[in-house]
Amino acid sequence: MLYSKLTRLPQKNAVRCHLCAHRCIIPDGKAGFCLVRKNESGKLCSLNWGKAVALAMDPIEKKPFFHFKPGTKVLSFGTPGCNFRCLNCQNWDLSQGVRESGQSVFDGNDIPPAAIAEAARRQKADGIAYTYSEPTIFFEYAYDTVQECKKMQKEKKLAKDFFHLFVSNGYFTKEMLDIVEKEKLLSAIRIDLKFTRDDKYYEITGGRFQPVLDSIRRVAALRNNSRWPVHLEVINLVIPGENDTPDDFRAVAEHLYSLSPDIPLHFSRFFPYYQMSHKPPTPIPSLLEAKKIAQDAGLHYVYVGNTDAEGAENTVCPKCNALLIERNKFSPGKNVFAKLGGEEKKNPACPECGEKIEIVL
Ligand code: SF4
Repeated sequence: MLYSKLTRLPQKNAVRCHLCAHRCIIPDGKAGFCLVRKNESGKLCSLNWGKAVALAMDPIEKKPFFHFKPGTKVLSFGTPGCNFRCLNCQNWDLSQGVRESGQSVFDGNDIPPAAIAEAARRQKADGIAYTYSEPTIFFEYAYDTVQECKKMQKEKKLAKDFFHLFVSNGYFTKEMLDIVEKEKLLSAIRIDLKFTRDDKYYEITGGRFQPVLDSIRRVAALRNNSRWPVHLEVINLVIPGENDTPDDFRAVAEHLYSLSPDIPLHFSRFFPYYQMSHKPPTPIPSLLEAKKIAQDAGLHYVYVGNTDAEGAENTVCPKCNALLIERNKFSPGKNVFAKLGGEEKKNPACPECGEKIEIVL
């Protein structure tokens, strides 16, 4: 198959999966860490292909993407399974259902990629967001869905600028991202940078820090790719007692700043879920402190999400502080870019001071 470079191993019929950074070696008849990719007689099979759940239309701001096509609507879906096992997962019934309740999550009819593309057309979506669970582990399904949409674009049933987004934990490999670039699959990726300490990453998610940072670095490098640019935003969920010290906030900000001060960073409020139900929600002052530290570290676009804090989701000019886009719980208010066209749309700038603003309109 094109999408997963299979490596045959000395052990009879064992394979290695190269889709995510776990790079599982899977013996015949067994599944990888995600439990949705299985070795069937030496062939790596995707068990969640066609198993879309929770299809819904969302404002793009809900993902959250604040600097990519503001005000647009995306058809969103996920599938069962995940390559992490986060103790605080909000969608644990979807992501960990295979682990918790076995194979029954794969029951039911397939929703083929063409049906998803048709749903996007019918509901007048501007794009598709692969989300809710980790899209890396349903990459083949996402790939086929993009191809169906491209066909519909050629037939003028979907707009020429119809787009595809991954809402990801960033645990994908360079090989996967190379396919994204080569085949022009995704226009934007939002990555969770959950922790900056490897021990915390492993303890709470089952993944490691470095592969996520590598993904952020690679996608950041694609932002200005002349052949196929990929927009990047990063989110950090602030969990009380786990990653909420000034040093934690500074480390997140400094990692991003070293790549570009223009990468949007969202600090998000934690609420008790799943195996972290005993923890309190993140105090708002802690999130505001995170924002201040990240701005002081030089980042231009820092947001606080999942709160009612006034103005926390607004985009302001990094030079003169003029209000550019107002947001309140994902609903867009004032947007100074809403009516731009032509060159102005390609090179957005602050109407007050002329500062270039990093945003894809
Ligand atoms: S996607 Fe990741 S976790 Fe799943 S089998 Fe492949 S390498 Fe393992």
